[in-house]
Amino acid sequence: MSEARPDVILVGGGVMGCSTALRLQREGLKTVVLERSVPGAEASSAAAGMLAPGAEAGHPVARDHVGTLLKLGAWSRELHAAQAEWLREEHQLDIGFRRCGAMVVAFGGDDEHALDVHAKALAGYPHEVLDGAAAREREPSLAAGVRAAIDLPEEAQLEPRLLLRALALAAEAAGAVFRSGAVVHEVLVESGRVRGVRVGGEILEADHVVVAAGSWTSLVPGLELAAAGIHPVRGQIVATQTRPPVFRRLIFGAGGYVVTRPDGRVLCGSTEERVGYRREVTLGGIRSIVDLATTLAPRLAEAPLQDQWSSFRPGTADGLPLVGGAGPENLWLASGHFRNGILLAPATAELIAHGIAGVAIPDDTPEHLVDPRRFAS
Ligand SMILES: Cc1cc2nc3c(=O)[nH]c(=O)nc-3n(C[C@H](O)[C@H](O)[C@H](O)COP(=O)(O)OP(=O)(O)OC[C@H]3O[C@@H](n4cnc5c(N)ncnc54)[C@H](O)[C@@H]3O)c2cc1C
Repeated sequence: MSEARPDVILVGGGVMGCSTALRLQREGLKTVVLERSVPGAEASSAAAGMLAPGAEAGHPVARDHVGTLLKLGAWSRELHAAQAEWLREEHQLDIGFRRCGAMVVAFGGDDEHALDVHAKALAGYPHEVLDGAAAREREPSLAAGVRAAIDLPEEAQLEPRLLLRALALAAEAAGAVFRSGAVVHEVLVESGRVRGVRVGGEILEADHVVVAAGSWTSLVPGLELAAAGIHPVRGQIVATQTRPPVFRRLIFGAGGYVVTRPDGRVLCGSTEERVGYRREVTLGGIRSIVDLATTLAPRLAEAPLQDQWSSFRPGTADGLPLVGGAGPENLWLASGHFRNGILLAPATAELIAHGIAGVAIPDDTPEHLVDPRRFAS
């Protein structure tokens, strides 16, 4: 390669690779991002862009880790707020960050019980429990059957495709080198220390390698990830629009969510499917999403179908991401963020910058809980 030897090679140009490259460049390290397609080609551009740790605390996968996810998520959401400001000031780039708030709703019966449990798990996290009438007062398009709700005023949203473009532009402006079409075939480790990577017949060396290959991380040869096995979990999204915008807040309930942009665009999601790397959008997937969306807001039945897509969330065995040293010296992992990769990207970048460059992180960061070596036998 023509450029000088980098300090850090990042494998994968999704939100993890791009965020981490930007963060490390800002610390004065030279980075190269190797992306087999183009930056943001996969899950990171398909995401809905919810920054909602309090709402996500109700998801079954979070049950054993609510405290960890809330702490990391709230920290990361505020890092997003600061980063969005910085991108606007320094680069005149708007990523659609908005403190829109979120509401989790229940229709009675089992989901009302689940809402109670969820509200208890939010102790110490800003939230308000409402009855159905109060919820509809704040969000008039909510279905008449909504019996109770949790209002989360600090949750936010952004537009993932704008974020990915902005991160790549800002990282490049700071000196990062992006190589599109570069498939990493192997991570090279010698005598317990990372040497670099192999791209086809080419050996690229660096002091550090960060593997951020999303749902494909476990497929990168040279990583010993068998026990942690990052696996793809397909998620489908259906896009529509309404005038006026159907909701102000992110709405969670009926087994999914509705995300409304201020201009009336609406994303409804999603499915969670273990179907390997099959990229289809299915009729069954669309049906379940349309059902949940119109259950939350009957008005959406009149909305035009505009688009649909799917991608793969990188799931892990215990529902927590793998962020930190991977075992061999100077080999790092930034992957396995499942439903919350957009949310957790800035915190992940901080944790990797902490490991590589000694950047300070808050004392109470639960870094040991996301340490990839927790799976070492
Ligand atoms: C439908 C859906 C909705 C979602 N909504 C949200 C949301 O609202 N909020 C939220 O926080 N999260 C959300 N997520 C989750 C989020 O999208 C992911 O957790 C996150 O994007 C993962 O980022 P990543 O960089 O790890 O992976 P990816 O974005 O998948 O990037 C990995 C990159 O690595 C590249 N790559 C793979 N192998 C190689 C190789 N060998 N060599 C070179 N490059 C390689 C790929 O081409 C890819 O570009 C959603 C996900 C889905 C599917």
